[in-house]
Amino acid sequence: MVVYAGQWKVFMNNSIDTGKVNVRHGGSAVFELTTNDPFDPAMFSTLLPRVVTKLTEYLRDDRIRGLSLDPPITLLEKAKSIKEKDGSKHTTEQQLLDILDLHISSGIHVSSAGYMARQYSSVPPVTAIYDLISAICPQPATFYEGGPLPNVADKIIKHEFGTFLGWHADDFDMISTSGASLGNLTAVLAARNTQLGSTWRAGVQQSKRMVPAIAVGGDSHYSVERLAGIIGIGQDNVIRLPLNQRRQICVDAARDCLARATNEGKRVFCLIAAAGTTSVGAIDPIFALSQLAAEYEAWLHVDAAHNGAFLVSDELRNRVSDLRYADSFCLDAHKTLFVPAACTLLFYRDKHNAKSAFPTFASYVQDTNEDIISGFESGMKNFECTKRPSILNLWVAWKLYGREFFEEKLNYLVHTTFEAYRLIQEIDYFTPINVPESNILCFRFLPEGISQPDIGPLQLRIKERINNEGRYYLSKVDIDGTPALRLVVMNHKIGIGDVRSLLHQIRRIGFAEMAAPLS
Ligand SMILES: *Cc1c(COP(=O)(O)O)cnc(C)c1O
Repeated sequence: MVVYAGQWKVFMNNSIDTGKVNVRHGGSAVFELTTNDPFDPAMFSTLLPRVVTKLTEYLRDDRIRGLSLDPPITLLEKAKSIKEKDGSKHTTEQQLLDILDLHISSGIHVSSAGYMARQYSSVPPVTAIYDLISAICPQPATFYEGGPLPNVADKIIKHEFGTFLGWHADDFDMISTSGASLGNLTAVLAARNTQLGSTWRAGVQQSKRMVPAIAVGGDSHYSVERLAGIIGIGQDNVIRLPLNQRRQICVDAARDCLARATNEGKRVFCLIAAAGTTSVGAIDPIFALSQLAAEYEAWLHVDAAHNGAFLVSDELRNRVSDLRYADSFCLDAHKTLFVPAACTLLFYRDKHNAKSAFPTFASYVQDTNEDIISGFESGMKNFECTKRPSILNLWVAWKLYGREFFEEKLNYLVHTTFEAYRLIQEIDYFTPINVPESNILCFRFLPEGISQPDIGPLQLRIKERINNEGRYYLSKVDIDGTPALRLVVMNHKIGIGDVRSLLHQIRRIGFAEMAAPLS
C-alpha cells in the first residue's frame, strides 16, 4: 500500500496488521502510525526478552555439530514460507521468532566444537549487546559530530597497540575500517599517492620508462590480488614473489624479481607481505622485506588480517613484532580478536601518510583548519562515509575483560593447533603441510600406494563427506595446485580430543573412498 499525503509519501507493506495509518499534515505531528507501530518502544521491550531466550539457548547448545547447509533453493523456499500473520495467533513477534529460528538453523554453528573451518569466531556476548546498542543509538563513526564515542575509542585502541609496537603516539596513526579488504585497498592507495606523485589528480601515468607496479606474495589473499585492477595499475603489473618451504616470501628470490622488474622499466612502488596468510597462516620475514622495500623506495604494506592480533599476546608478540617496520599494516579484530564483523584496524607508521589515501576536501563535513575535533576524527582517512562504529565492540570487550582475555584465547588456539600438528605427525597416513605459526593447519590424508593424480580428488571427497556427515566442518585450500584439508582452530571449545576424533573420521572416510573407485 502506498499512502500519499501532500509531500509525505509513505510506503506501507502488507505486514502491518491492520494497515490503519494516520497522516496529518501541518503542525508538529505530521505522521503517526496508530497500530502496530514498527517504531513502538513497547514492541521492543516485549520482543527482546523472547529473542534473548532463544539466543541464550543457542549459546548454551553444546552439541558437536558441523555444517548443515541447505541448498539455496530450499532455503529460499523456507524464507518465503515464513508463516503470514493471521491477525491473532501468528503475530509480528512470532514472525520475527520464526525468522530467527531459520537464521540459527541455516548458519554455521560457530560455538560448537565441530566448527573447524573458518576464520571467524564466536563473540563474547557483550560485544553483540553493544552492536545492538549502537544500532539503536547510532553513532556513525566517521565524523566526530556524528560519532563522538567511536572516534574516542579509536584513539584508546590506537594507544594500546602503539605500546605493543613500540611506536610513539605522536608519530603513528590508526583508523578503523570495515574489513581487511578495504584496509589493504586504503593502505595501497596511500602508497600509490605518496610514492607516485600526482596520481590522485592526474591519474596513473604510464610510460615505457616508468610502468607502476606492485609486488605481492605468492599466497596473498584475493583482496590483494584485486588491488592492481582497482587502483589503476593493471594486473599485468603485479609481480608475484616466490615462496620458500614455509610458504613465506623468499627474500633472495624477491630481490631478484624486483631487480628484473626494474630492468624492465617497472617502478615497484609497493610491496605487500602477509602476517598470517589465509591458506596456512604463514608470516613473511617482515624486517628483511622492509629493507628490500627501502632499497627500491617502495612502501611496505603488511596484510596482517589474521595474525596481527598476536600483538596483544606477550607470548605470541615476537612472531609479529616486526610489523613495526612496515609503512602500514592492517589486522582484523573480527577474526582473531573475536568481535562481531567487520572491525579492522589499519596502522600507518608515519601519521602523515594516513591522509594520503583520500586527499579530498568536503566542505559539508570538514573544516580547513586542523582543530581539536578534526584531530580526533577519521573521516577523511576512511573510504566509508557512514560507518558502523564496530570499534566500540572491541573497546567494550577490552575495557570489560582486559588484554588478558584476548591473550588467553589466542594462546589457547595457537597451542591447540600445534598439538593438532603433533598428532597428525604421529598418526599414520597423515602428512602436515605447514608447521603452524598460528591457528591454521593444512594437511593431507595420504595412504600408501595412492597415485599422484588421485591425491587432490581424494582430499576433496573427504572434505565433502566430512561436511555432509554434519559432525565436523572443515575447509580446504589448494597448495601448489593440489587440494589439502584445512583446519582452523578459532573456537576455544575445541580440545585435542575433538581433533583426534576428526582425524579418525577422516581415516574411516578416506579408506572407504579408496576402496570405492574415485569418480
Ligand atoms: C580474511 C582476510 C582478508 C580479508 O579480510 P576481510 O576482513 O574479510 O575483508 C585479507 N587478508 C587476509 C590474510 C585474510 O585472512
